[in-house]
Amino acid sequence: MKVLLTGGCGYIGSHVAVVLMSAGHEVVIVDDLSNSHRDVVGRIADIAGQLPVFYQGDVGDVALVRDVIRRHQIDSVIHLAGFKSVGESVQLPLKYYQNNVCGTLGLLQAMEAESVPRLVFSSSATIYGDPQYLPVDEAHPQRVINAYGRSKLHIEGMLQDISASRPSLGVVCLRYFNPVGAHGSGLIGEYPRGTPNNLMPYVVQVASGEREVLNVFGGDYPTPDGTGVRDYIHVMDLAEGHLAALNFLSSNSGWHAFNLGTGRGFSVLEMIRAFEKESGHTVPYRITARREGDVACSYADVQAAARGLNWKATRALEDMCSSAWRFQSRLSTGGRSPAD
Ligand code: NAD
Ligand code: UDP
Repeated sequence: MKVLLTGGCGYIGSHVAVVLMSAGHEVVIVDDLSNSHRDVVGRIADIAGQLPVFYQGDVGDVALVRDVIRRHQIDSVIHLAGFKSVGESVQLPLKYYQNNVCGTLGLLQAMEAESVPRLVFSSSATIYGDPQYLPVDEAHPQRVINAYGRSKLHIEGMLQDISASRPSLGVVCLRYFNPVGAHGSGLIGEYPRGTPNNLMPYVVQVASGEREVLNVFGGDYPTPDGTGVRDYIHVMDLAEGHLAALNFLSSNSGWHAFNLGTGRGFSVLEMIRAFEKESGHTVPYRITARREGDVACSYADVQAAARGLNWKATRALEDMCSSAWRFQSRLSTGGRSPAD
């Protein structure tokens, strides 16, 4: 297929690009580089053996996107471009609605004008809010508590409406749990700008000596060791989930949503121990107060993706930790980071 991959220079997008290209699909990236670096295009090429086509631009720019669709005869879109910091979204909600919701609106207008029949959208498990039961399946009630989550929910709603009005359109919303790790080459991975918000990049930076100590947010949750439990999924498994979604859309239309997770939860302390073992470095930590808005435990029901997409996460926690460390080690020895 000829795939427009928005946000393809980002953490998840770069891995999706590699997986799609390795499976023989043509990939055209549109990314405004607001949270990534152009170098990533070359790194994708180093892994996949060919350069993806790259346009620097805003996914909400209807004229640009229409031109890209026409020029490359795009038949499928995988839409990952967006902002993703929960904390920032609480401070600057309009920034999130503008970029995530309005950006998607522009993309959808361009897709409709050019009659593109397939879309895969990166949604998030954050739309489920505090789990009312576990594992969390796709029918779980949706209760967002921040502007980031609401932007994802708005987009899912927009996609449902559009799909109802255009029955030939196929839409898959992939609700990611907690993507971690990196490509085995260590060439692409997650390198957040500024202080990491998420656990794994923070752990990696503490292990490498870039930061002194990890704050573990809460030691009194009703979980086996008192720390928060999440469903961490290897980013390469997640990327392969996008390939499975594209295959699904080659024979299905309508609106669909699937969780992408492993179905298994690990606590913060389990993650620290696993990372220490794989990296050979200690991760000093201290238990601090709970972080506002955090839930005790969340992990996915993965049956729908197994049945519908014929996809399952296969990579182990050890691989998530060792690949994240390999990427960090290459950054430390190789100078500039992809997000500089
Ligand atoms: P990322 O920031 O690394 O990648 C997003 C990419 O989109 C960046 O390269 C950025 O430059 C680009 N971008 C942002 N706004 C743009 C715009 N208007 N036009 C063009 N490009 C734009 O983030 P990521 O972790 O790779 O996440 C990708 C997607 O997955 C996001 O939509 C995010 O909300 C979603 N998601 C991520 C996680 C996670 O934990 N990483 C979890 C659930 C969902
Ligand atoms: N966490 C932590 N210290 C950090 C970052 C995260 O203890 O510096 C915990 C957090 O409270 C949660 C888990 O790690 O229990 C995963 O948090 P992350 O922000 O990575 O993902 P999310 O909260 O979105 O599931």
